[in-house]
Amino acid sequence: METITTTLLIIGGGPGGYVAGIRAGQLEIPTIVVEGAQPGGTCLNIGCIPSKALIHAAEEFNKANTYAAQESALGITVENPRIDLARTVAWKDGIVKRLTGGVGSLLKKHGVRLVNGWARIIDGKTVEVQPQDGDGAPLRIRCEHLLLASGSEPVELPFMPFGGDVVSSTEALSPESIPRRLVVVGGGYIGLELGTAYRKLGSQVTVVEAAERILPSYDADLVKPVAASLARLGVELRLGTTVLGFEQGLVRVRDASNVEAQLEADRVLVAVGRKPRTTGWGLESLMLDMEGRAVKVDGQCRTSMRNVWAIGDLAGEPMLAHRAMAQGEMVAEIIAGKFREFVPAAIPAVCYTDPEIVVAGMSPLDCDREGVEFVSAVFPFSANGRAMTIEGTDGFVRVVARKDNHLILGWQAVGAGVSELAAAFSQSLEMGALLEDVGRTIHAHPTLGEAVQEAALRALGHALHI
Ligand code: FAD
Ligand code: NAD
Repeated sequence: METITTTLLIIGGGPGGYVAGIRAGQLEIPTIVVEGAQPGGTCLNIGCIPSKALIHAAEEFNKANTYAAQESALGITVENPRIDLARTVAWKDGIVKRLTGGVGSLLKKHGVRLVNGWARIIDGKTVEVQPQDGDGAPLRIRCEHLLLASGSEPVELPFMPFGGDVVSSTEALSPESIPRRLVVVGGGYIGLELGTAYRKLGSQVTVVEAAERILPSYDADLVKPVAASLARLGVELRLGTTVLGFEQGLVRVRDASNVEAQLEADRVLVAVGRKPRTTGWGLESLMLDMEGRAVKVDGQCRTSMRNVWAIGDLAGEPMLAHRAMAQGEMVAEIIAGKFREFVPAAIPAVCYTDPEIVVAGMSPLDCDREGVEFVSAVFPFSANGRAMTIEGTDGFVRVVARKDNHLILGWQAVGAGVSELAAAFSQSLEMGALLEDVGRTIHAHPTLGEAVQEAALRALGHALHI
């Protein structure tokens, strides 16, 4: 078997692994990335990017249908809108291909070798790779540093395994047809992002959520406009309800009062969370310390074994692409001899529902829990000119700051297009901005960002436009 040596060996070419590879290449660390599927990982191939493409296509189709169904205040008329799903999926695949091709080119540009095959850990410094095409001879790679970035996989319900009409987000992102009736199990990120998209593409959608409300990880005020929009769209919510099984087109459910019911379904999307990918590639043999299902890491993403590192979804929550990328970049710099620690002021999170939700840092509830004295203010989009021009007046921006010195601790927003406010939120937190800093910054008019400035001014007691 051919044996090659390198300084840094990265298992997994997702956002964590490929960013670590690019940065390591820039720092001239001899690096190999091993990827069993396509570069770009879950995020680019079967996650963030294809889901946002499908959500956009569904929204465009829904707009056309809305204009066709009723007189529009904008004076737009559309007749007989139709969608060619095969072309929609091909368009989405084209975006994925451009991006994953780009990852390959970037690694190459920075002198990083990408090996296409499944890695199997032999020990903390040795990995065997079976090339993907099956014809190539196995390869043995020895390294000084081993970076584990194998990501995560969907959680399966044992009594409703994936297959046939029971699908995970992966299949739901490449549909050959739109089911007449879709039951979505799990009212979290994936269930609501894709459930809404399928509703807009024409399915009757029922969301079955075990908790008493949808998006249980977000605060209730932020979720209200999303719940109202789901009701307008005609998405049925079964809250406090668990699934019992799926047979012959019927999903059996039981609600909090122990009442059982059957829901008709042509397809069932199970989206009850994701788990770190820890089995099937020899990871167990390293006997690393674990934290729940994830590999335990310290503030520099070091595992319990010297020179073995873990990042991204494999290293637990929050399972977000930008966290994986930030950790990957940091580990490459540490290996190059720089001093770095993973202590972000905040990891923003966006839920691409309709309307969108974005959070960064602490909410009023977090402050209460931690006994921090705070001031908080909300600025509604109903008082924002830009929001009116894009018919997006539902929602608000909320700021949370320390009561004593006005240091901003957190931001939350819900509304059309608020995902783009994530940058402003994170920057103000990372730079230690005060309410006064944001309140005195000139924000371009008319923009949704003015609601950010106005929320800060309102927390200071002198908002201008409300
Ligand atoms: P992954 O992206 O999972 O990459 C791991 C890679 O390792 C994979 O390509 C896999 O093939 C490879 N691999 C695993 N084991 C081996 C092995 N033994 N040998 C070789 N290769 C191996 N996050 C966001 O921030 N924003 C979003 O909008 C968003 N939307 C999402 C939508 C969906 C439908 C899903 C499923 C996820 C979404 N996420 C989103 C989460 C995001 O995709 C993950 O947090 C992110 O991809 C994690 O990056 P990673 O590098 O840790 O792992
Ligand atoms: P999730 O944790 O967001 O939501 C899972 C939901 O399923 C929860 O509300 C939970 O209460 C519910 N649930 C669990 N078991 C259930 C059961 N048996 N019956 C009914 N409901 C049940 O998980 P997800 O939606 O699968 O997404 C996985 C992860 O992927 C997310 O946590 C996130 O890290 C990532 N993701 C991020 C984005 C984004 O950033 N926009 C989008 C999609 C996915």
